[in-house]
Amino acid sequence: MVKLGLRTPQDFILHLPLRYEDETQVTPVARLVPGRWAQIEGEVVRCEVQSRPRRQLVATVADDTGEIGLRFLTFYPSHQRQLATGNRVRVRGEPRGGLFGLEMVHPRLGSANVALPDTLTPVYPITQGLSQSVLRRAVVQAMGDVPWQDTLPHEVRERFALEEFDEAIRALHYPTRASLPSLQSREHAAWRRVKFDELLAQQLSLAVARAARRRRSAPVMPAHTGQDCLAARLQASLPFALSGAQRRVVGEIAGDMARPYPMQRLLQGDVGSGKTVVAALAAAQAVDNGYQAALMAPTELLAEQHLRKFTGWFEPLGIRIAWLSGSVGAKARREALAAIASGEAALAVGTQALIQEHVHFHRLGLALTDEQHRFGVGQRLALRQKGAEAAQGGGVHQLMMSATPIPRTLAMTVFADLDVSEIDELPPGRTPIVTKLVDDVRRDEVIERIHAAVADGRQAYWVCPLVEESEALELQTAVDTFERLRVALPGVRVGLVHGKLAPADKAQVMRGFQEGSVDLLVATTVIEVGVDVPNASLMVVEHAERFGLAQLHQLRGRVGRGTAESVCVLMYQTPLSRVAKARLRTLHESTDGFLIAERDLELRGPGEFLGVRQSGEALLRFADLQDDAGLAEEARQAAAWMLQSHRPAVREHLARWLRGREDFLKA
Ligand code: ADP
Ligand code: MG
Repeated sequence: MVKLGLRTPQDFILHLPLRYEDETQVTPVARLVPGRWAQIEGEVVRCEVQSRPRRQLVATVADDTGEIGLRFLTFYPSHQRQLATGNRVRVRGEPRGGLFGLEMVHPRLGSANVALPDTLTPVYPITQGLSQSVLRRAVVQAMGDVPWQDTLPHEVRERFALEEFDEAIRALHYPTRASLPSLQSREHAAWRRVKFDELLAQQLSLAVARAARRRRSAPVMPAHTGQDCLAARLQASLPFALSGAQRRVVGEIAGDMARPYPMQRLLQGDVGSGKTVVAALAAAQAVDNGYQAALMAPTELLAEQHLRKFTGWFEPLGIRIAWLSGSVGAKARREALAAIASGEAALAVGTQALIQEHVHFHRLGLALTDEQHRFGVGQRLALRQKGAEAAQGGGVHQLMMSATPIPRTLAMTVFADLDVSEIDELPPGRTPIVTKLVDDVRRDEVIERIHAAVADGRQAYWVCPLVEESEALELQTAVDTFERLRVALPGVRVGLVHGKLAPADKAQVMRGFQEGSVDLLVATTVIEVGVDVPNASLMVVEHAERFGLAQLHQLRGRVGRGTAESVCVLMYQTPLSRVAKARLRTLHESTDGFLIAERDLELRGPGEFLGVRQSGEALLRFADLQDDAGLAEEARQAAAWMLQSHRPAVREHLARWLRGREDFLKA
């Protein structure tokens, strides 16, 4: 039961049935329908252990209307006792047509001497090793005889027309026969109450987390205004002007960093929208205030690219950057650690290596994470821990970047306490990417297209199919594709990157592509995030139907970064499923990451959309943010009200619903 997260009585009462069995009625044997679960009652007229074709217990039970056979392939003495000839028994199971009339295989047996229940019998979600009957008893016990206390004040229940908590959970565990249809469609008042409570808990916990954050301290790092501050010099040295959207989010971030409590901000922006420079300007603001900034990326490849960008921007301005990743040698690592600890390196860039135990910052003020959804809650907490340690117990400002936009409504409701900034326009001068859907049978034309692009001095990506079942197979496919394309494209310099390549080798191929000594980069999805090669203007994705919408959009974002007209060719193999078709059509029609995210959400639902990691799946078990949007809004109002004038109820409500997952709220 612990496996199911069931520990306290509160947990049991909120472990709601999947469905119900109707044991309130007895069906006459003559009225049984094969395949339809039923309960019968009758007298045992025969019972014997047969040994052929295998050892089994076979009995016959009769009522006034007919007879039915029972068969147990495994059985215990208790079965034989219950089925002694002449006993009256109750039998529940699914009848089916056997060789000699109807029979039930492994039905459940009960005594006919107890009164029939007047409510339906719950069937709970269980795991292996746990039986329904054990769980049912545990729930009955947890439910107790006295009503469960209602955590909602009377006024709140009244205003939002909610039934009482105890009434609701009893109706859900032990419903009457008549309430079954509205329970199944989840329209029953009891469902409404439980979903409301869950949504309310979520709103309350967010508010509580936000209030707690405001009580923590963080370095006050206001934007400097002089022309000679680092942020101003950096901006002046950029070869481009910031877009309007970039200026806006830079302002939002600068405002947060000037506050005495930790910023916790998500920076969303489509691939290529220019998040990196926004991060760099935030870092410069930290440095201007005498603090360090750290930028962490989920992969070596991406971290390296950030290092290159940051080095290009900051080193001419006299700022030292420390580099930490898994592939850094012992000596270089020692030096980096020393520079981070002494503060000599104002900036640190790297992978998860940045948050290992032996990394000590001199004065960390700002933690930046790229592609934050790739990091788990634990890693985000660890990064924050680093800051706390450097700030002697205070907090650190956090900016998380994501190119997988999460619709704002979802970000606000599902995420822990986060503010959201969006870069909703691409830098000027980009030519829109044209997306073509091409049947795999026209592969030759696609290869010809590559040929033409390369002859024109451009570069191209070829993304190999995702093979979900096997990494080895995926690798093999990539190697085969690489070989075949080399043969098909003489004179084209082809490179290959995949997940199994040693980091140094991968970096070498990537460098080649970046510098232009590789024309065509054949890759598995390792190029998914962040790679920035403006001269690449053609992207081919093989078996595009196997990829998710967000992933394809990410991949496509690798091109269209320069001024040349870019094309993304999505090759597919027929037949296509309905969802695959919808995905490809969406990509064909739109390049707007936010719109695509909305479509993705529709196609997949919020749970899958966010992935278990950050959906805090268990936070919402009953309510659905889309279906129950109206209820969510009511819960938001109720939360504000309760926080204002019903504080003790807030605590009680959270204690009931949070069940030890407070940690999630912090990350
Ligand atoms: P992403 O948001 O996907 O991380 P990047 O930060 O890698 O995007 O930016 C993509 C490219 O656009 C980079 O080469 C970057 O230097 C460039 N860039 C960023 N902002 C602007 C701008 N305002 N004008 C022109 N180019 C820009
Ligand atoms: Mg990026």
